[in-house]
Amino acid sequence: MGNKERAKERREKRHQEISFLRTIPYSDHQRWWSSDTIAVVTGANRGIGFEIAHQFALHGLTVILTSRETKVGEEAANVLQQGGLNVVFHQLDVVDPSSIELFADWVNQTFGGIDILVNNAGVNFNAGSDNSVEFAEKVIGTNYFGTKNMIKTMTPLMRPSASGARIVNVSSRLGRLNGRRNRIGNLSLRQQLEDDDSLSEELIEQTVTTFLEQVKDGSWTSSGWPQVFTDYSLSKLAVNTYTRLMSRVLSDRPEGQKIYINCYCPGWVKTAMTGWAGHTSPEEGADTAVWLALLPDQFVSGKFFAERREINY
Ligand code: NDP
Repeated sequence: MGNKERAKERREKRHQEISFLRTIPYSDHQRWWSSDTIAVVTGANRGIGFEIAHQFALHGLTVILTSRETKVGEEAANVLQQGGLNVVFHQLDVVDPSSIELFADWVNQTFGGIDILVNNAGVNFNAGSDNSVEFAEKVIGTNYFGTKNMIKTMTPLMRPSASGARIVNVSSRLGRLNGRRNRIGNLSLRQQLEDDDSLSEELIEQTVTTFLEQVKDGSWTSSGWPQVFTDYSLSKLAVNTYTRLMSRVLSDRPEGQKIYINCYCPGWVKTAMTGWAGHTSPEEGADTAVWLALLPDQFVSGKFFAERREINY
C-alpha cells in the first residue's frame, strides 16, 4: 500500500470514529451552555461557516449567523430558522472596520455580549498547482487582519463565566511553521515565530508586511516563503501564530473571566473555496470547531487541532 492509500485509510477511519463520537450526546453535567449562550460565526452564509452555525444551533445555542452580503446571509439564516433553530442574522464584513463596529454595537445592545466567537471568514484565489499572488493583499487582509480585528473588537464583549468564553479560528495545515512540504525557508524568522519569547504582534505584522512589499516589487519568489498557495499559507501561518500569542495574552485574565482561544484545520473540504473538490464534507469540516468551542471541562488554549486531535503548529 502506498503512502496516499495509507493516508486515505487513516482519514476514513478517523472520519468514522468522529461520526460515532458525534452520536454520543453531551450529558447535563457536561453541557455548560444553554439557549442564552451566544455564538457568533463569521462568513456563515455558506460552506464550513454555515455548518458551524447549524451545529451550534442544533446543540441549543443562540447563533448569530453573519455574512458580508445581507441578502445571502438572511437566506442562510432563514434555512436554519425554518428548521426551528435559534438563529439570527447580522451583516458583518471582517475587512470593513465600520461594519465590525456596527456589529459590535448591535451585539452589545441586543445581547449584552457573546460567549463564543468563530473566525471562519476566509478567501483563497488559487487552485491546483497555481500560485498567483495577484490577490495577496486581500488574502492576508481577510484571513489574518479580519480575524485579528474581530478578536480585538469582540474580546471586550466576551461575557464572564465559570466555563470561560471561547474563540476558535478556522485555519489550515498549510499555515504550519514546520510543514514538511510547505514552510518558511528563512530559519531565523521561523525560529523567532516559533519561540514564545520572541513572538509578538509586531513580528507577525512585520512578516506579512514584508511579504506584501515583496509581492509589490516582485522579489517574493526568491525569499523563502511557503511554496504552496504562498499568500494563503502565510495568512494562515499568521492566524496560527496570533492564536498562540493571544492565548498567552488572555491567560492573565482572572478566574471567571477566562477566554480560551484555539485554531484548527478543517481538512480539505468540498466547498466553493476548493471548487467542491476535497475529501471532507462541510459537516465534517465544521465538527472540530464546534467540538472545541463546546469542550466541557477541559480548558485548552493556544493549541492547533484537526479532527478533534491536537496537531503541531
Ligand atoms: P467558502 O468560500 O465556501 O466560504 C468562505 C466564507 O467566508 C464565505 O461565507 C465568504 O462570504 C466569507 N468571507 C470572505 N470574505 C469575507 C469578509 N471580508 N467578511 C465576511 N465574510 C467573508 O469557503 P470554506 O467554507 O471552505 O472556508 C471557510 C474557512 O475554512 C476559511 O477560513 C478557509 O480558509 C478555511 N479552510 C477551508 C478549507 C477547505 O478545504 N475548504 C481548508 C482549510 C481551511 P461570501 O459568500 O460573501 O464570499
